Amino acid sequence: MDFLASLKIQANNAGVSTGKAWINTTGTPIQSHSPVDGKLIGTVQPADRAGYEAVITKAEEAFLAWRQWPAPKRGEVVRQIGEALRQYKEPLGKLVSYEMGKSLQEGYGEVQEMIDICDFAVGLSRQLHGFTMHSERPAHRMYEQWHPLGIVGIISAFNFPVAVWSWNTMLGWVCGNVCVWKPSEKTPLCAVACQHIIAEVFAKNNVPEGVSGLIIGNRDAGEWMAADGRIPLVSATGSTRMGKAVGAAVGARLGKALLELGGNNAIIISKDADLDIALRGAIFGAVGTAGQRCTTTRRLIIHESVYDTVKNKLVSAYKQLSIGDPLDEKNHVGPLIDTDAVRLYSQSIEACKKEGGTFIVEGGVLEGKGYESGCYVKPCIAEAQPGYAIVQHETFAPILYLLKYKTLEEAIAIQNGVPQGLSSSIMTLNLREAEQFLSYAGSDCGIANVNIGTSGAEIGGAFGGEKETGGGRESGSDAWKAYMRRQTNTINYSTQLPLAQGIKFDL
Ligand code: NAD
Repeated sequence: MDFLASLKIQANNAGVSTGKAWINTTGTPIQSHSPVDGKLIGTVQPADRAGYEAVITKAEEAFLAWRQWPAPKRGEVVRQIGEALRQYKEPLGKLVSYEMGKSLQEGYGEVQEMIDICDFAVGLSRQLHGFTMHSERPAHRMYEQWHPLGIVGIISAFNFPVAVWSWNTMLGWVCGNVCVWKPSEKTPLCAVACQHIIAEVFAKNNVPEGVSGLIIGNRDAGEWMAADGRIPLVSATGSTRMGKAVGAAVGARLGKALLELGGNNAIIISKDADLDIALRGAIFGAVGTAGQRCTTTRRLIIHESVYDTVKNKLVSAYKQLSIGDPLDEKNHVGPLIDTDAVRLYSQSIEACKKEGGTFIVEGGVLEGKGYESGCYVKPCIAEAQPGYAIVQHETFAPILYLLKYKTLEEAIAIQNGVPQGLSSSIMTLNLREAEQFLSYAGSDCGIANVNIGTSGAEIGGAFGGEKETGGGRESGSDAWKAYMRRQTNTINYSTQLPLAQGIKFDL
C-alpha cells in the first residue's frame, strides 16, 4: 500500500497536532480497520485532556497573529493547499476509499471537492464584504463589516472523512479563524494524512503554529469542544442524536453551533417524469456510497399510474448491481463502515417487516470470498407506508422504501412528513408541478431539486437542511457568514452630536 507511505501514514500515529508539532498522549490507541477487507491499516494515539489543552492554547495564540494577515494573503495559503491536494489526489483518494469504504471514484471525487472548496475560498478571500447604509443623521457614515470569530471547532462524521472538514476549514481560514478538527474515530487516518499535507504548506508560508489543530478522539473529545467557552463556533456534522447533544452543550454557554445532521431524503416520481432520468437518479441516490450519504435517497414517492413500471424496472436494475471491493471500479456498491452499521441495517429490515413492509428486493449480509470484513450488505427495496416508524427514521444503509401517491399535494405532504429536512427532489417534465414543489407550499428541505436526484451537491451552493437536520449551512453562497461576526459601525464626521430618532439631550 504505497499510498499510505506517500501520505506519511505509519503503523502507529500520533493523533494530536498543533499543525507543526505532534503531541504524545496517553490512552488506548484507536485502531483503524478497513471495511474493505477487515485489515488493520494503522493505529492512532487519541487526545487526552493535556493534549487537547495544548492544541487549544496554541490555537488561541495563533489566532492573535493569523487575524492580522490580510484575507487575500490567507487566501494565497489556501490556494497552495489546493495545489498540494491536486498533487496528493490519488493517494488521498485511495485512503478515503480504503478507510471509509466508498468507491475509488467517490474517493477521488471527495478530494476533488476539497480542491474545489479551496478555489472557492481563494476567491472569497477578496469578497468578505458587508453593506453600507445611509444614516438618518447628517454627516454620518454607517456600514457593517465582518470579523473573524477565533477558534472554529469542527466535529466531522465518517462518511465524508475529508471533504466536510475542508468545507469548514478553508472558509474558516480565509475568514481569519483558526480551526481545530475532531474527525470521526472511524476514519482517523484520513485526518492524519490531511494534517501532514497542511503542515507542509504551512511550513513553507510561515503560518503560525496552531492555525490547524487536530484532536483525534472518541466522542469525549467532541464533548470537550462543545463545552469549551474558548471555542465560539462549533461546526458539527453527524447524527441527529449527536447534534442534539452538541447543540444543547454549545447553547448552554451561548456559543454558536453550525449543525449538519441526518437526512431522510425522498424523490417524488411524477406521472410526467422522464422515467430513465428518474430511475438513474433514484438508483444512484439509493445505493451510492452503500446508502451512507447524508443525502442518500431513502424514500421514493411514486405516482400510482407509474408505480408498477418504476417498481419492476427497479427490481431488474438492482439485479445488475455488483457488490464488492470499492477499489475495483467494476463494483457499484462497497461495504458499510463497520459491523455495527451492518447490525443496524439488519434490525431496520426486521422492523420494516414487522410494521407490514414487503421486500420486493431482499436484503442480507454477504459472506464468503471477498466479503471477509463482514461489512458487505445487499441493497434492498421495500414497499412501505409513510407513517411507519422505520420510514420516519434514517438508517444509514442501502434500504429504499417505495411509497405510492395520487395527488401532488399528497406527495409533498409525504415528502415533508418526516422529522428530517435535508435533500429532496421531484422528477417531472410538468412545469406547474416543478414550480409547486419549489414554492413556499412545496418541499421544506434545505435542498430541493428538479430532475436531479437527492445526492451529489456542488460546493457553489449553500449546503444543509432544516428541522432535525440542524439548520446549518456550509460551503458555497454566503455560508461564510457563519464563520464571522458582524459589526455595525457608525462614524460621525460632523461638528455636532445628533442623536438617532430625533432625541434631544441638552445639558
Ligand atoms: P455520529 O453522530 O456517530 O458521529 C459524528 C461525529 O460526532 C464523530 O466525530 C463523533 O465522535 C462525534 N460525536 C458523537 N457524539 C458526540 C457528542 N455527544 N458530543 C460531541 N461529539 C460527538 O455520526 P456518524 O455515524 O459518523 O455519521 C453519520 C451521520 O452523519 C448520519 O446521520 C448522516 O446523515 C450525518 N451526516 C450529515 C451530513 C450533513 O451535511 N447534513 C453530512 C455527513 C453526515
